[in-house]
Amino acid sequence: MFLILIGPPGVGKGTLGAALEAKYGALPISSGAIFRAEIEAQTDLGRMAKRYIDHGELVPNGVTIEMMNKRLRDPSIRKSGFVLDGFPRTVRQAEALDEMLFDLSFGLDKAISLEAPADLIVGRLAGRIGCTRCGEIYHSVTKPPKRDGICDRCNSPLFIREDDKPESIRERIRVFWETTAPVIDYYSKTGSLLKVDASHDPASTFHQVVAGLHLESK
Ligand code: AMP
Repeated sequence: MFLILIGPPGVGKGTLGAALEAKYGALPISSGAIFRAEIEAQTDLGRMAKRYIDHGELVPNGVTIEMMNKRLRDPSIRKSGFVLDGFPRTVRQAEALDEMLFDLSFGLDKAISLEAPADLIVGRLAGRIGCTRCGEIYHSVTKPPKRDGICDRCNSPLFIREDDKPESIRERIRVFWETTAPVIDYYSKTGSLLKVDASHDPASTFHQVVAGLHLESK
């Protein structure tokens, strides 16, 4: 299964990716998570990316495409498939991804556009807390962890993303509408777009995806 998730920050791409992995084994690959790991490891790429990420801006296409090209060539992906979360975010990246998929002979199943009203996603992002190790996502109001600051699933410390501050949230949503929304048109034109209403709970989003992809739901 080769899928792309497109949607504004906070719409639920990470949660859907984890659910698709749990049920169908497709590996979620998040460009944002790769950048955060590079920042944590204090690599040159991480230091460069941090300057953009902290302000809610996009990292330049060239380095982002190169990083994803390297990641997608990992031999295990041919077997597991992938769910791309956060890439492509520009039409240039979508074109580059087409070339990578062609090169690797991976057939894209669908690009899934997750849609929800802006005020709803701002509320979701403002309380978002993530696990540093397993990537589980919590929310201070709607899905708090059982113990403050500790992941229920793997007992690792939880963190609030630097770019989940209100100024960065506003900028990330603006960048989505300006730069990433055209990517939705790009996949609509190739007939590979599946639109999903992500304004309800994660189970509703997941069921729409399963139905839209005609997947076995058992
Ligand atoms: P995310 O975890 O997907 O919300 O990404 C966090 C941040 O990483 C974004 O706000 C961007 O600064 C950067 N980023 C992630 N993916 C990309 C991409 N495909 N192109 C450019 N920047 C990206």
